[in-house]
Amino acid sequence: MSVQQHYPWHNSTWQRLQQSRQRRHHALLLRGRQGIAKLDFANRLAQSLLCQSPLDNGDACGQCVSCSWFAQGTHPDYRLLTPEQDAPEGAEAAAASGKKAVRKSTQISVTQIRELAGFLELSSHQVDGRRVVVIHPADALNQTSANALLKMLEEPPANVIFLLVTSHPQRLLPTIMSRCQQVEMPTPAEAEALAWLEQQGVQDAANWLAYSGGSPLQAAEAATTGNERLQALATRLAQGQGLDPFATASEFAMLGMEEVMTALQKWLYDLLAISLDTQPRYHLNSLPALQALSKSVDLSELLAYQRDVDSARRSASHPLNNELQLEHLLLQYSKLFSSKART
Ligand SMILES: [Zn+2]
Repeated sequence: MSVQQHYPWHNSTWQRLQQSRQRRHHALLLRGRQGIAKLDFANRLAQSLLCQSPLDNGDACGQCVSCSWFAQGTHPDYRLLTPEQDAPEGAEAAAASGKKAVRKSTQISVTQIRELAGFLELSSHQVDGRRVVVIHPADALNQTSANALLKMLEEPPANVIFLLVTSHPQRLLPTIMSRCQQVEMPTPAEAEALAWLEQQGVQDAANWLAYSGGSPLQAAEAATTGNERLQALATRLAQGQGLDPFATASEFAMLGMEEVMTALQKWLYDLLAISLDTQPRYHLNSLPALQALSKSVDLSELLAYQRDVDSARRSASHPLNNELQLEHLLLQYSKLFSSKART
């Protein structure tokens, strides 16, 4: 948690919040699409709220004792609530299967909210007594923990500011939403995102930004870590009818289910777009292969398959079944293409 990086697409939201500083709500819901650094924004705001002598633009000074606590990640009046590592269920299941626990809990538990209540009962360490709680992602609250949090939002402890962060506001309880001031964070314009990516030294920025659906952070990450894996996926999928579902499934399973399913969904989106004579959006590096495949695909079968993949993803099953599920999906995939081109 060193110096907060400032992203150009945050500027308008930052200025708007500074203008309304005097009538600040005790709970803000920062919402916007995945991969635009909402958590960084929340932390920047948290640091500035705790800073003893903020700058004119509202940013933290970076010099005071509060800022130095914040930079070290030890600020006593700041809490970040996020799903805990190694959920007990995950650990048990992993122990039973003899595998190492690698699954991260996806929920913020009621125990975590109770601990938060305990923290908020104590008095703050600073003169003005302000404390900041960041909840990320707020959609990780389950029914019980959300209700426990709701009680706090309904009767907020003095001088506590809650910053809830989410890419999926529709998954929050309406009662939680209604207790928060909504702060809609914009997705950067393409030119802005590209300029930022190029500044970060990302090669081939336009392609990665397209693949990541316009999210600059995901594009930067995909460009640094995902390049080879993505190429491997695209190479296999480009084989169409000739793809070996069994060999490919075991290869894909090692890449991680989440990434494979995302790549597959985007691949199908593009295949459909080309078949319908509209613009493909994601796998722009594989256009010749997609065009070739589109000539031998049956449109109604493709649509049905796309629905199967979407529902397979939603039901994201146990990790042990991943390879089996992939075999099934890839077998279906290879059958989408006929040996002779359709007219
Ligand atoms: Zn400061």
